[in-house]
Amino acid sequence: SSQEIRRALISVSDKTGIDGFAKRLSAAGVEILSTGGTAAALRTAGVTVTDVSSVTNFPEILGGRVKTLHPKIHGGILGKKKDPGHQAEMKTHGITPIDLVCINLYPFEKTVAKAQTTLDEACEQIDIGGPAMVRASAKNFQDVVILVDPADYERILSLIESKSPISRELRQELAAKAFRMTSAYDAAITAYLSGEAKEDFPAIFRPAFTLAQTLRYGENPHQKGAFYRSSDPADRGVGTAVKRWGKELSYNNVLDAHSALALVKEFSGPATVIVKHNNPCGAATGDSLLDTYCKARDTDPVSSFGGVVAMNRPVDGETAREMAKIFLEVVIAPGFSPEALEVLTKKKDIRLLEAPDAFAGGAGEKEILELRSVSGGLLVQTPDRIVMPTRDKISLATKRVPTDSEWEDALFAFTVGKHVRSNSIILVKDRVTVGIGAGQMSRVDSVRLSGMKANRTTQGTVLASDAFFPFRDGIDEAAKLGVAGIVQPGGSIRDKEVFEAADEYGMFMILTGVRHFKH
Ligand code: 5GP
Repeated sequence: SSQEIRRALISVSDKTGIDGFAKRLSAAGVEILSTGGTAAALRTAGVTVTDVSSVTNFPEILGGRVKTLHPKIHGGILGKKKDPGHQAEMKTHGITPIDLVCINLYPFEKTVAKAQTTLDEACEQIDIGGPAMVRASAKNFQDVVILVDPADYERILSLIESKSPISRELRQELAAKAFRMTSAYDAAITAYLSGEAKEDFPAIFRPAFTLAQTLRYGENPHQKGAFYRSSDPADRGVGTAVKRWGKELSYNNVLDAHSALALVKEFSGPATVIVKHNNPCGAATGDSLLDTYCKARDTDPVSSFGGVVAMNRPVDGETAREMAKIFLEVVIAPGFSPEALEVLTKKKDIRLLEAPDAFAGGAGEKEILELRSVSGGLLVQTPDRIVMPTRDKISLATKRVPTDSEWEDALFAFTVGKHVRSNSIILVKDRVTVGIGAGQMSRVDSVRLSGMKANRTTQGTVLASDAFFPFRDGIDEAAKLGVAGIVQPGGSIRDKEVFEAADEYGMFMILTGVRHFKH
């Protein structure tokens, strides 16, 4: 048939594994054309090859800059098999079709990654003929199979060897991958020539994301939305989670699940976080997952209804039964026990996301950049990975010294505060949130709000503030709530007045020296 692979062109810079691939193609009766270096390597491996230069009847010139840039090659790639006009013209000019093209490009990125590479050396590594063939093949994907990734060799070989057709869908998939590769290649050259490659943030200018799903809408029904998954294997989280159950995720579900996951990942013992509108409305650590779920929910039972729940342990049956009692939008966890799945899949409105990868990280985790669009630009930053300093490295501003339990509450509260939109004030007792004052424009209002949000007494709680107190008024409000002590970064010009206020009320005050604005 016209879909049969009769002739393949192989031109690879990195020659690993190419001999095995070519041998099997050749054994399946495919004629192989190759450029100088590739042809030599294949001959050494005992594969019969035709030199591109014998097809073009023109030598490779300019030190390899011009090898395959010739009508005999590009005509062979671009000619449409179903177009009689094309076929006639090809015959007139003695052009034979090429059915498969296998390429990898000069290693531009690897070359410029080396500090000693000169501009001339870098420019020499800009592949011209390779991308031209890749793009030509991908344009004519209905007639040409384009291979740019060794991971696809086996799939194609097994189809050729079994004389099975290579479907249009597969050809199109390979073409999309080919264009993704050439656009990333060009982006790397662009970044290098414009000096961006020397900056700290080169990676974002590469096509690093692939469409995970189009969303029914964005934040609101009149907005369009889509969700992209990171192509970076080190970037794991909501984007790489597997949906085990439930309706399509919404834009807001994804955002809330992301925030909930980020906070729950901070804790090593069992923990639950419940998020509403991108702020935690409850968080707890405790002895069991069930215990933490109940405590987090009871911080603010009204807000927890319809919440997005993140847990750092696989969800078990008893926790699932408790969760099933109210409506929840999303649960994201490292896994679900069979019993938990049985219980929760009875609920048609809940979505269950399994994200074991998100918890696999640990030390040596690659720095994944956070991106946020602004009109006319893009903001980029490294994530806020700092945790509160340990007790021996932290200073106290007051006479009153925290108890062991208060130290633990301070750590817990400050960690939660890192994940609450600023200005944030968190009240905590026994590693459970008591009240959360989120997203206010003044800190003193956040203190009041944390008290208003409390579902039980605020007496004896530890209060965490994401940034310093500019005035003593925040401390006065905290005293009205019966707060036992405060953890905050310190660093205000009125620190003295703030510390004195704390001493007046007999509170302790821990200074972290670390600020956690979250906007
Ligand atoms: P070989 O080692 O086979 O001599 O060269 C293989 C490399 O040359 C591949 O990376 C391929 O992309 C590249 N290439 C193929 N044709 C041309 C061309 O006409 N000009 C340039 N600059 N590179 C080419």
